[in-house]
Amino acid sequence: MGLRSILSSPEWLVDEPEYNLEKINFYETIFTVGNGYLGTRGSLEEGIKGELPGTFLAGVFDHHDSAVTDLVNAPNWLPMRIRVDGERLSLQRSKILEHRRILDMKKGLLYRFTQFEDSQGRRTRYESLRFASFHNQHLCGIKAIVTPENYSGLITVESLLDGDCCNLDRRPVYVPEKPKFHPEIKWRKWAKSKHMEFVDGTAEQDGMYLEMRTMDTGHLLGYAASLNVSGADITTEYFQDYENASQVSGFEATQGNSYDIEKLVMIYTSRDIPGKELKSSCLNRLEGERSRGFDCLIDEHVAVWEGKWAASDCVIKGDPKANHALRFNIYHLLIVGNPNDPGVNIGAKSLSGEGYRGHVFWDTEIYMLPFFIYTQPETARALVMYRYNLMPGAMENAKINGFKGSQFPWESADTGSEATPKWTPDMQVRIWTGEEEVQITADVAYGILTYYTATGDLDFFLQAGVEILMNTARFWESRLEYNETKDRYELTSVIGPDEYHEHVNNNVYTNWMAQWNLRQAIDTYHWLKEKRTDEFPKVIKRLSLSEEEVATWQKVAEKIHIPYDSEKKLIEQFEGYFQLKDIPITEFDKNSMPAYPDGYHAHNSKETTLLKQPDVVMLLFILPNDFDDEVKRTNYEYYEKRTMHKSSLSPCIHSIMGIEVGDTTKALQYFYRSALVDLEDNQGNTEYGIHAASAGGTWMSVVFGFGGFRVKNNQMTFKPWLPEQWEELSYTLKWRGDDIKVTIRLDEGIFTLCSDDKAKSEDIVVFDKRYTLKSDTEVVVAFLPEAL
Ligand code: BGC
Ligand code: BGC
Repeated sequence: MGLRSILSSPEWLVDEPEYNLEKINFYETIFTVGNGYLGTRGSLEEGIKGELPGTFLAGVFDHHDSAVTDLVNAPNWLPMRIRVDGERLSLQRSKILEHRRILDMKKGLLYRFTQFEDSQGRRTRYESLRFASFHNQHLCGIKAIVTPENYSGLITVESLLDGDCCNLDRRPVYVPEKPKFHPEIKWRKWAKSKHMEFVDGTAEQDGMYLEMRTMDTGHLLGYAASLNVSGADITTEYFQDYENASQVSGFEATQGNSYDIEKLVMIYTSRDIPGKELKSSCLNRLEGERSRGFDCLIDEHVAVWEGKWAASDCVIKGDPKANHALRFNIYHLLIVGNPNDPGVNIGAKSLSGEGYRGHVFWDTEIYMLPFFIYTQPETARALVMYRYNLMPGAMENAKINGFKGSQFPWESADTGSEATPKWTPDMQVRIWTGEEEVQITADVAYGILTYYTATGDLDFFLQAGVEILMNTARFWESRLEYNETKDRYELTSVIGPDEYHEHVNNNVYTNWMAQWNLRQAIDTYHWLKEKRTDEFPKVIKRLSLSEEEVATWQKVAEKIHIPYDSEKKLIEQFEGYFQLKDIPITEFDKNSMPAYPDGYHAHNSKETTLLKQPDVVMLLFILPNDFDDEVKRTNYEYYEKRTMHKSSLSPCIHSIMGIEVGDTTKALQYFYRSALVDLEDNQGNTEYGIHAASAGGTWMSVVFGFGGFRVKNNQMTFKPWLPEQWEELSYTLKWRGDDIKVTIRLDEGIFTLCSDDKAKSEDIVVFDKRYTLKSDTEVVVAFLPEAL
């Protein structure tokens, strides 16, 4: 029986039905396998011209001679080439009778089937299964079955560990239009950055070993690999070439017989264990795993996946396409979350591509963290601890820029210092976000408090959370500028979430969040003083905090300027925004997404009221208690019409806010747009990596939007709305150590608290009415037609 029988039922599968050179980089991204420790793009084992392979090890960055630090494109563990009497089987050179790949999202497996016909008319069937183990995050493997269908002859398998990998660096200048290079050569037009040098490589019976060192950060990356081939009279040769190690095993194959090939790889770095132990550890641990057999390793991996899905699945009945797309987004979040490493975070493109050089943005706190907080709080804890662990870098940033406290970097990597490039990759456009998108500091504080509210993780809060809150408040107090004439505090020359408008003054999102950050710090200070009398003296000593300093925060917070027309209920995105040219959007593409009005594009939309992504609407979303329904509706209606959605972070927020203000038709459109951003490549750049924020945003759109879940005043509240074709939506939320199971139907909602503590109860609010959940007892709430 072939390898395919292991795959889950069709609703869990993502299919590549045929080979298409134009799409190979797209499939490399969406077929990424990973386990939080590493991610490996879905490149073909045998390689292909035009490929963009990548294995990324979380936290392994290097800056050597590149514009800014890169998440290193680490050694490639995949290469495995099959030759028939010396002729290599390849999608480009052989005739392809059939080719299909399938990602099994439920089990974290990538399956492949290819039927090759070589130049001599020999037909070979090749099947493979690939995984990055969730059970042992250092282990990866490929199992293949090769069958000579109409011939007998010599088959050789070449397995390689390849250290000669580079990162993309500079793009050629694309003026005025992006030229279209043939897909086989397009990546060769880029300048590359070399980040690794060779340390050690051996290939012998005990296994292959390759060790590389990152040139500037000095991390040692150790890879050991084994290859087992099932044929008779196998001859094996080992090669240690420049920057790679390989093994070639050959055997005389008989027509119609199938031969098993198993490649296992063990990866450790000097971030995990001392460098001098790398080689022996990789080889010994590899041997330990290999001796237990490939099938057992897969079973253990699949068992961990079961647990992951049990905690995070959402089921939409009545809309299989929506459910499939949602699970695809959840799959990509699951393969990049790692509860075991609080020194790393999730980049904007996860571990699935080089886009944004592996850097971490507000995407984590605002878009991805909610998924982890409410489904895998241990992973959420590691993510918030990353910010704490990198706080020295944030303090250094503040100092360099002349401010106090902690200024978190707009783009963050491994040290907490600012990692935003100053120029676009073609060196044509100056990037100001590193200097001006200062909102990130408040977003980090927001993430910390969201985590703490949902988990009640007091240890974290007292140890790390409080420090982050106080240090971010300090930053704001020093960054805010006092305008004497107007007796108010301002933030000038900033970029808000809508990046079309640079160097603006008093962006409401940023000012409001700065004020919110200061107030949270003040409240926390008083809470400590009154309620945590043991810790209070320690905290103020550790932070050299004084009553006067907190009183200053209070004074400053009260006088932060917010441009707001209370009569019209309309918030002006920043000062002067209403004076910009108001150019209506009149054209829409096939996904009902706006097209630029004639003569406008990303770089001159700043003259207009057009937005790249929500800014005021973003604020209404993240602080739902601060605005009433009328303000939400008025601003949504005004800004939604002007939003171009040129960031994948945009549609999910409009989906959620659309439901909140009753624009449900668009809310559903925006949901699909978000859910399909990568599966349908609707931003056109999936080849650079998964849109990880949109993946988190898609989950939010289901749970916060349709599922209607929000936390208000420290309480879970629900105001669901379902499209007619959705018969039922169910999801589970982790809340302070327990599970809250939610099932929403058109006419009712069912809520159950599942707790080990049978005496436990929890109050929730559904459509503004309070209900008490008791452990293991369903509470059924009938929805009145007008509520929906
Ligand atoms: C993004 C910015 C980012 C910059 C450089 C732009 O495309 O919009 O947020 O800082 O790239 O990475
Ligand atoms: C968006 C930012 C986002 C960044 C990384 C940019 O295009 O404008 O909001 O943080 O991409 O995803």
